[in-house]
Amino acid sequence: MNYLKEIFRGFWSLLVGMEVTIRYFFKKPVTVIYPRERLPIKRFKGPIAFVVDEKSKDHLCIACNACIKICPSRCMSLEIGKSAADGKRVLTDFKVNYMLCSLCSLCIDVCPTDALKHAEGDYDMVSLTQKELVMDLLEPFEKRGTPLTKIPLAPQTPAAAK
Ligand code: SF4
Ligand code: SF4
Repeated sequence: MNYLKEIFRGFWSLLVGMEVTIRYFFKKPVTVIYPRERLPIKRFKGPIAFVVDEKSKDHLCIACNACIKICPSRCMSLEIGKSAADGKRVLTDFKVNYMLCSLCSLCIDVCPTDALKHAEGDYDMVSLTQKELVMDLLEPFEKRGTPLTKIPLAPQTPAAAK
């Protein structure tokens, strides 16, 4: 009789120990098989992107360099040039290196024209090569390809960066 009691006790303690496992075994899983399935995530900071002006369908950057100076990760770069058509100063290149970006939002806060934002929907920034993570923010805009003469920027000194 004692022998049966011991078996029962052992079986019962096993059931108690496995209670959580058994309970979750019959519940719907809360995880998904990423990347085949993606969960909609509402609260996250996407990568830095240009705001598109509704009227002009262009970006709002005036190449003032404020974001470059404030970026603590030194991961932004821009180049300016002269338009061959009217000689006006135009942005010719704007890159952000996402391998270094900490998504701190300082560049967004400092921009005088509200030209930058966190892109929506893109929470899984992954890449097989480092090169792909150097993002060209001008790529979506038509102005690419305009004949331009590049104007070299003055080198940034540590004092100027503060
Ligand atoms: S979010 Fe922060 S780290 Fe990333 S580019 Fe802007 S200022 Fe630099
Ligand atoms: S702070 Fe704004 S306007 Fe100035 S360079 Fe950066 S994105 Fe362009």
